[in-house]
Formats: sequence, C-alpha cells, structure tokens
Amino acid sequence: MKFFSDTETAFRYKSTRELRKALWLFRIVGNPFMVKLGSALLRFALRIGFPVRWALKPTVFAHFCGGETINECDRTIGRLGDYNVLTILDYSAEGKEGEADFEHTKEQIISTIDKAAGEKNIPYAVFKPTGLSRFGLLEKVQTGVTLNDAEKEELERVKKRFWEICGYGYNKGVPVMIDSEESWIQTVVDGIVEELMFFYNKEKPMIFNTLQMYRHDRLEYLEKFIEKTGEKGVFPAFKLVRGAYMEKERERADKLGYDSPIYPDKDATDKAFDRATEILLGRYDRAAVCVGTHNENSCAAAAGIMKEIGVKPDHPNVSFAQLLGMSDHISFSMAADGYNVCKYVPYGPVNSVVPYLIRRAEENTSVAGQTSRELYLLKREIARRRNS
Ligand SMILES: Cc1cc2nc3c(=O)[nH]c(=O)nc-3n(C[C@H](O)[C@H](O)[C@H](O)COP(=O)(O)OP(=O)(O)OC[C@H]3O[C@@H](n4cnc5c(N)ncnc54)[C@H](O)[C@@H]3O)c2cc1C
Repeated sequence: MKFFSDTETAFRYKSTRELRKALWLFRIVGNPFMVKLGSALLRFALRIGFPVRWALKPTVFAHFCGGETINECDRTIGRLGDYNVLTILDYSAEGKEGEADFEHTKEQIISTIDKAAGEKNIPYAVFKPTGLSRFGLLEKVQTGVTLNDAEKEELERVKKRFWEICGYGYNKGVPVMIDSEESWIQTVVDGIVEELMFFYNKEKPMIFNTLQMYRHDRLEYLEKFIEKTGEKGVFPAFKLVRGAYMEKERERADKLGYDSPIYPDKDATDKAFDRATEILLGRYDRAAVCVGTHNENSCAAAAGIMKEIGVKPDHPNVSFAQLLGMSDHISFSMAADGYNVCKYVPYGPVNSVVPYLIRRAEENTSVAGQTSRELYLLKREIARRRNS
C-alpha cells in the first residue's frame, strides 16, 4: 500500500486554501517551543476568562474539530462521506467534574447515537469514561479503598450512565466504542465494559473496549478475554491504539516506585500492536477490530493480513480509524481501496475542547515523524496543484 505516493487522493476533499492553512498550522505545531508557549498561554487565558474563541475557531479548531454542535459537524460528515470516509462523532468537552456535567455529556452521547441511527456515514458512537465519571472516584475504586455511602451511590450513577448509553446504542443498532485512559483507572473501566460486552455482544459486536498496546500486559489481557468470551459465545470487540499517556504513565510509575506498565521501547509497542491486530483479524468472523492508528506500517500490515486470510476490505467486523486533521493520506487512500475507514470528529464548545486541542498539538510535537510527514505531504500536494 503506497500511502505517500498519492497526495491527490489523500487531500482531494481540501481546497488549496485549506491546505495552506494546514501547512501553517503544522509548521507551528512542529515547533516544540511554540507548542509549549501556546499551550501555557491558552491554559492561562482560559483560567482568567480571556476570550480565545475568535482566534481558535477559524484555525486549530477548524482543522481538528467538526464544529461546536452535532449539527455544525454536518458539513464535515458530508465532505468525508463523499470519499467513503465515515465519521465517529466524539464529544470532546473535557475537564468537567460535576454530576450535572456528566449527565450533560451522557445526553450528548445519546444525541450522537440518534444522529448515527439516521446517517449512513456514522457507523459508531464513542465516549470517554471520564466524561461520565470523576477521575478521582475511579482511581479510588481501583486502589481497593472502601467507598463511603455517597461514593458508592456515585459509582452506581456512573455505571448507570455507561449502561444507559450502551443500551440506547444497542436498541438503535449503533455500536458504541469506549475510549481507554490512564492505567490507574483503566482496570475499573475494563470491569464495567466487560460486563457490557458480555451482555450486548451476543449476536454481533456492539460494545468495543479500547486496548492501549503500549501497555505490556495488554496482549495477555486480550488472549484471556478471547478465551472467556469464547466459552460464552460472545463477540470480543476492540479498538486498538498505541496509547496517549506514555510520559504520564512512566512519570507516575517512577514517582511511586512501581514497574512502568509501558513497554521499554517503541519497537516493542509496535510489535504488540501488530500482534493484537493479527489475533483479532484471525477471528474476524467471531470478533471485531478497529485499527486506530496513524502508523502506515500497522495499517499496511493489517491490510496484508486481511488479504492473506481472505477478509474482504469492507468486512463489517474490521475498520480503521484516524483523527480528523491527521493522516488523511492513510484515511483517504484506504477508503479509496474499499476499506472501512472512519475519522474521529471531535466537537464541542471551543473553550471546552481546548484540552483536546492542546493534546493534539503536543502529540504532533512529540510523535517523531508525525509532523514532518504531514508537512511533507501537504507541501507535495500544494506543489502538485500548482504544477497541474
Ligand atoms: C481513532 C483513534 C482513537 C484513539 N483513541 C484513544 C484512546 O481511546 N485512548 C488512548 O490512550 N489513545 C487513543 N488514541 C491515541 C493513540 O493512543 C496514539 O497516541 C496516537 O494514535 C499515536 O499513535 P499511532 O499508532 O497513531 O502512531 P505512532 O507514531 O506509530 O506511535 C506513537 C505512539 O507509540 C507509543 N510510543 C512512542 N514511543 C514509545 C516508546 N519509547 N516506548 C513505548 N511506546 C512508545 C506511544 O503510544 C505513542 O503515542 C487514539 C488514536 C486514534 C487514531
């Protein structure tokens, strides 16, 4: 699969003006000093209530997000859909910690399910566990400390939100993916999601957990889980990612003096990611996998295995996913070749999405090669259009 060669396919949904804007953006994001300074200024501006919407909305927000509301995402959904790239609406308001906020987020996810039920270009819904729960509560549960009565009730409300969303998705025929977070809350999330999978994945994959393959315990977890589901005739369904919290994970392990849950090097993470893909693809008729990555080698490896074992590119149990505004060369090339490809399309009020945007900027700075790859492809396509 030649992802780099066909920038015309990769960027055909973007105008030249948009490409120039993206080029400018990735140049800034590629500069660690600018990202550090910009992130600090943004956080400060938000804290003191300084208006940032006017600056962010037409620039970073427009590149990485679909809109402030579900309806504002319609244009993006349509434009991606024109090239068979599907949308996963991702309500990305972060940093909310109150019960009213969690209920509001739940209602938003339910609205994304309603939207998906009536829209052929939206195959899944998604949510982030800490959009529905206090981080501190999940952390406390995972440490095994006895909860007081108020906390027990709070935990029940969190579980109820998970179940309401997944039940709603099931009734509407919209599979739901659940994002993964830091390892020191993830065991609790896994417990809740496993119960949901055992309940809703009997006929087909409806609930997807996420495996962060930078964790050295995840391959074993996957194999054991497959064994457990096999006995019960349940579909294991996973979104595979490498993991977004590597530095944080290592720092915490170092500080508290336990072994880091992360593989010691990138190569080991890459191997684990590709092995998990292989395991799930090998059971494609009884399992589902969403390969969530911007890594060309992993996408090409997955496509190679599919070809080798005779899985059609558009098999309903196999999909690929990238984030809006990143790696269009993978998304659009694979979609053009008939694979099921989705983009996470984040949305939400500009100010609430800022933590997500900062993470994207930091990720593009820290992931070796990601920004230079985006810059190279953008420059190539702008030059191609100029000369054609
Ligand atoms: C559709 C989609 C959904 C996502 N959902 C989630 C989610 O639910 N939870 C989540 O945590 N993240 C999620 N992510 C982010 C993801 O985990 C990665 O941070 C991001 O995609 C970069 O990894 P990559 O495979 O795309 O690219 P690559 O550039 O190949 O890999 C970079 C990643 O490799 C790992 N890595 C880098 N250096 C080392 C090292 N020295 N040792 C060990 N490992 C290393 C890190 O995980 C790093 O992020 C999602 C990404 C996508 C595309």
